Formats: sequence, structure tokens, C-alpha cells
Amino acid sequence: MATTRKGKKKSKKTTVNSKKTSRKTRNVKKSSGKTKKVTGKTGKAAGNTKVAGKTKKSTTGVSKKSGKKKPVKPSSHFKLIRKVADMKKLARELRSRRRKIALVPTMGFLHEGHLSLIREARRRASVVVVSVFVNPKQFGVNEDLDRYPRDLAGDRRKIRSEGADYMFAPDVAEMYPENFQTFVEVTGVTRDFCGASRPSHFRGVTTVVTKLFQIVQPDMAFFGEKDFQQLVTIRQMVRDLNQDINVIGMPTIREEDGLAMSSRNTYLSTSQRHQATAIYRGLRKAKRLCDSGEYDAAELSAVVLDLLREQRDMEIEYVAVSDPNTLERIHEVEKQAVLMVAVRVGDTRLIDNIRLTVRRRR
Ligand code: AMP
Repeated sequence: MATTRKGKKKSKKTTVNSKKTSRKTRNVKKSSGKTKKVTGKTGKAAGNTKVAGKTKKSTTGVSKKSGKKKPVKPSSHFKLIRKVADMKKLARELRSRRRKIALVPTMGFLHEGHLSLIREARRRASVVVVSVFVNPKQFGVNEDLDRYPRDLAGDRRKIRSEGADYMFAPDVAEMYPENFQTFVEVTGVTRDFCGASRPSHFRGVTTVVTKLFQIVQPDMAFFGEKDFQQLVTIRQMVRDLNQDINVIGMPTIREEDGLAMSSRNTYLSTSQRHQATAIYRGLRKAKRLCDSGEYDAAELSAVVLDLLREQRDMEIEYVAVSDPNTLERIHEVEKQAVLMVAVRVGDTRLIDNIRLTVRRRR
């Protein structure tokens, strides 16, 4: 399948910038980047504002300490890389200089959720590579590969202005040349939930992520908790295959009304967009119930289901309470759990989740 544009420019020779830029200063600045209309309140209410580091940040990307949005200095040596061979050469050079490489894998059409990953990567690594690749292998035959939104030029601008160093945007033939026949498959944690309704999805994800790991050679890779099953699957893969990569999960960034940001939100009509807010309203309601001492998974799921069922265009795929590490369904929240939801609103599939924590036992 074709991506939006062909690599019309021959990728320039990729050399590592040898200038020792004031990385420390830049890293400090990165932690509070530009942001558009998003709120930290909703994420905070969800209790999922913990970022993989020690500091707590709001989900707006605005530093809690300063409360100010600081402009991010774009990388002076930013480069768009279209070829696997160029990216591999660059990675080799970077590693030989002992640079800490962070990878942020995305399918593009970037929003604040993606940018929050890039900001954290910028804060923690000396080199940030953001990949943009709409991976055909993770779409089923009747899924939205062809209409998946794409905006390579806009993505390039955003990635650069967040201070990332490289954007790796190969086309499909680069990643899957003719006669490609190898897949990476994680079994257990991919079986239920999204894996049940999208049978080849996670196999596509783990295959492309492994390829990206091979090509970019990162020390750390950033993924959003929004795609919770994906994050658990990647962690499992990294453990099982002894991939020497620190997988960092990042909190979900939400619109002002709580809807988790997603490139797919652009598919929603005004009415569907409004109905979609029921997802997070339901998740929060369940969390409040859990906080007030209800630990029964069926009861917690029921409050979400009730809200979702009120929505005219909503078809519920699953609402489930699981162990956050193994994703096994549980009947009662013991300590930590994750409440996950997948629905279809019209033709658009949306997922979301919230962490549940037992604060005190009865
Ligand atoms: P995608 O482009 O949808 O494949 O997403 C690329 C990465 O961004 C994945 O690790 C996602 O989990 C993450 N991501 C997507 N949406 C959000 C969001 N609203 N908040 C935080 N991370 C997100």
C-alpha cells in the first residue's frame, strides 16, 4: 500500500552532527513544550499523570513546577531520513559516539499525545528519532489503512519544533521489500481484547517495532498508555527477545472534554464526537466508584457499559478489568488494575483505559 507521498527528495547524506550543542540546557527546556487546547485536569483526575521519570507533570506538557509553557528550540541539525540504509548508518555512528538514542515510533498525523512522548524523549536522551510510518501490516483487510490520516509535512514541522533530531519516514517498500516473510509474534497478552477483534494487528505492530529497533538501535523507546495492550505487548516482546531497550510508557493526553487524543478522532462527525465523550466519563465514574470502595470488576464495568449503551451510534466491543501486567481478566481489583474499553462509533474504532488502584481495603 502506498503512503501519501513518495520519497521525491533523495535523502541527504546522513552524518552525525558532531557539534556538541548545549544539550543540557535544551533538555531542561524540553520538559515543558508548546501545547494546544488540551487539559491536564482530566488526566489528573484519572490519576494517570505519572510520567516515567520521577517528576509529575500535567498531561498538557506544561511543567507543574513553573506552570509556564516554554518555547522549545528546534534542533539546528534536524534531518528527515527516508532510507533504511541511511538510518542504520546514522545509528551506527551515533552509537559509536556513545550517544543515548531515544525512539518514538508513530504512524504520524501527530497530535499532543505524540508530542508528549517526543518531549519526554528529548528530556531523557541525547538523540531523539521519531519514526513516522503507517504500517500496513497492522491493519486488517477491511480496516482503515487507505483513509488513515497522513500529513508528512505537518509532522516534519512538529517533530522539528519539538527539538527532535531526526524524523525517520521510510515508505512501505523500504520497510517491506518484495519477498518479505518474517514476523514477530507475541502470543499470550495479544489474544484477548484488541487482539481478538483484530487478529493480525499485534503481529504487525511487534514486527514493525522490532524492525525499527533493529534500524534505529535505540537505548530507549516511548509508547503511550493509551494503547495499553500494545504497551504490555511491547514490554513482553522486549523481555522475551532480550532486546536491550528501555520501554517507557507515557500517560494518555486528552482533549478538554476528556476524549483521549487519537489520529482517528478526525473521522468522527460532530454528533459522534459528542457521543465519544461517554467513554472517558464512564471510565472516570468507574474509577470514582473504585475509590469509594467498590472493587468488584463486574460492578465497575457495569457503570461504563450503562453510559456507553446510552449512546446512539456506539457499538461496544469490550469493557474489561484486567491485571495491568499480564492483562488477565480479574473479578476483583486487588491492588492495581486497568479498566479497558473498545467501542465503535459509527465506523470509527476508539480505545481508552484507566488505572484503578485500591487505596484501602475494606
Ligand atoms: P500512533 O501514531 O497512533 O501509532 O501512536 C504512536 C504512539 O503515540 C503510540 O505509542 C501511542 O500509544 C501514542 N499515543 C497515541 N495517542 C496518545 C495519547 N492521546 N496520549 C499519549 N500517547 C498517545
